[in-house]
Amino acid sequence: MKIAIIGAGASGMAAAIAAAASATNEVLLLERQARVGRKLLATGNGRCNLTNRQTRPCHYHGSNPDFVRPALTAFPVDFTLDFFRNLGLYTVTEPGGRVYPYSDQANSVVDVLRFALNRPNIDLKTGTEITGVKRIPNGFRLKAQNGEVWDAERLIVTCGGAAGTKLGGGLSGYQLLRSLGHHCTKLYPSLVQLKTDTELVRGLKGVRANAALKLTVRDTVIAAARGEVQFTDYGVSGPAVFELSRAAATAEESVLHLDLLPDCRDEDLLSALCIRISRFPTLLAEDLLTGILHNRLGRILVTASGITLNTPLTSLRWQQLNEVVELCRALRLRVTGNMGMEGAQVTAGGIVTAEFDPQTLQSRIVPGLYAAGEVLDVDGDCGGYNLQWAWSSGLLAGQLRGQTETQQTDTSFRPESARHKAN
Ligand SMILES: Cc1cc2nc3c(=O)[nH]c(=O)nc-3n(C[C@H](O)[C@H](O)[C@H](O)COP(=O)(O)OP(=O)(O)OC[C@H]3O[C@@H](n4cnc5c(N)ncnc54)[C@H](O)[C@@H]3O)c2cc1C
Repeated sequence: MKIAIIGAGASGMAAAIAAAASATNEVLLLERQARVGRKLLATGNGRCNLTNRQTRPCHYHGSNPDFVRPALTAFPVDFTLDFFRNLGLYTVTEPGGRVYPYSDQANSVVDVLRFALNRPNIDLKTGTEITGVKRIPNGFRLKAQNGEVWDAERLIVTCGGAAGTKLGGGLSGYQLLRSLGHHCTKLYPSLVQLKTDTELVRGLKGVRANAALKLTVRDTVIAAARGEVQFTDYGVSGPAVFELSRAAATAEESVLHLDLLPDCRDEDLLSALCIRISRFPTLLAEDLLTGILHNRLGRILVTASGITLNTPLTSLRWQQLNEVVELCRALRLRVTGNMGMEGAQVTAGGIVTAEFDPQTLQSRIVPGLYAAGEVLDVDGDCGGYNLQWAWSSGLLAGQLRGQTETQQTDTSFRPESARHKAN
């Protein structure tokens, strides 16, 4: 059977490997960029956080987060690890369950996938952008930008989402699926840096802090996270900010509250400040928070609470100290926007999942059409969950199960070791 797969990113490569497991399948894998897995190379800051051992459906979002369940059940994290181990990839698990290649290089992941694609029944065409697809009797006709045309009996769309525009993210997958009758939700950037009022953060560019974050809309908490925050000239970034970014991107007006000393009680901080004053009475207010927070952050908080930096510590009043404590515990930054699809790691929203069978990822509208990965209305939390979805959904789609199953022999995909175990 002839199978065309559009997009050789994470899910497309997984789908191709799964589909090619059946020797009677001829797989045509089409990639518009010069090489496969370009976005993968940039993942995890070049280290590729390829999955997370704590993967559960609760780490996913979209109109129906439960949509991920069958794919994650059929191809869970252990399967992913087995799959990559069989391709020769060594991995290491870090605290929090994040899994990385042992080499610490994202290109190791891409390399082993490339090796696996190199088989007689996979025809990989890079530098080939598909600009149109249409249904024909018994399948699909695909047209490339350069005018080339291919016919296939089955089509898997794995074009990814709009996030990471400089790495190949775009609208192409949504457009192709819409042209076949599917619908797309509104798209938002997620796992993205937030723009905030810059008055306070401007002087903090490059400063990192461990904080507890709350996002509120009209004083109601809509999201919370804890972890590292990086201050930038436009606002805030870092893992904890990414966790809240989906909620911030989809909310109208939100305010970020940073507790910069989440493990410290107010009274303990106050007493630490009092000790500082009594022990070092000649110091100025600029050193009130020295040793407690990053120096620059400390000075900005002191200034923001209305204290002039050259005020002698001994002339600070009780109320002023309380105000400093309050600011440390709840630095408020109005969210004014985000860094858009260019800065985002993943797209929130996508092709309506109700239009696909979660057990097979086959379209309920167009028989023989499948989709996987970020193009669907599924996005995961920060920490390897998005790639896990790409692997699981790609492998499931590559099985080409569903109404058309009768034409398949034993295509149920298992990595070599799992097959041996089963035999
Ligand atoms: C900077 C960054 C860091 C990230 N880090 C992590 C991380 O550490 N862990 C994690 O889990 N997730 C991470 N992600 C998210 C993760 O990379 C994606 O969710 C995942 O790659 C999606 O897989 P996909 O196969 O759906 O799409 P992609 O991997 O984006 O692949 C889609 C492919 O389709 C191709 N394509 C698109 N349209 C066409 C067309 N018309 N014709 C031919 N080819 C086409 C594209 O060029 C691309 O190669 C990160 C994302 C970014 C941007």
